[in-house]
Amino acid sequence: MPVYAPSPGRRHADNVWRAAPHNFAKRNHIGGMPNVLIKCPQTDRTVPTLLRMKPHEFEALNGPRQFRCSVCNQIHTWTKADAWVENA
Ligand SMILES: [Zn+2]
Repeated sequence: MPVYAPSPGRRHADNVWRAAPHNFAKRNHIGGMPNVLIKCPQTDRTVPTLLRMKPHEFEALNGPRQFRCSVCNQIHTWTKADAWVENA
């Protein structure tokens, strides 16, 4: 009698993900919100602001926002004019 892994269903899902990453991306798009991105003024690299929202919510943003940059570790202040929504 073979001993089965504790969660064979989860393992199966991982295998499906590896076999068909486009399916995972599709699911992720439906379940998750796109990141709001800005260009880091210190390093000129694209960084996520930690905000996630849909494009129409982004369009309704008002005023400056602050976040701690994951690239240079400084606080950046940004407005809608500096930012864009991932994959939008
Ligand atoms: Zn930065």
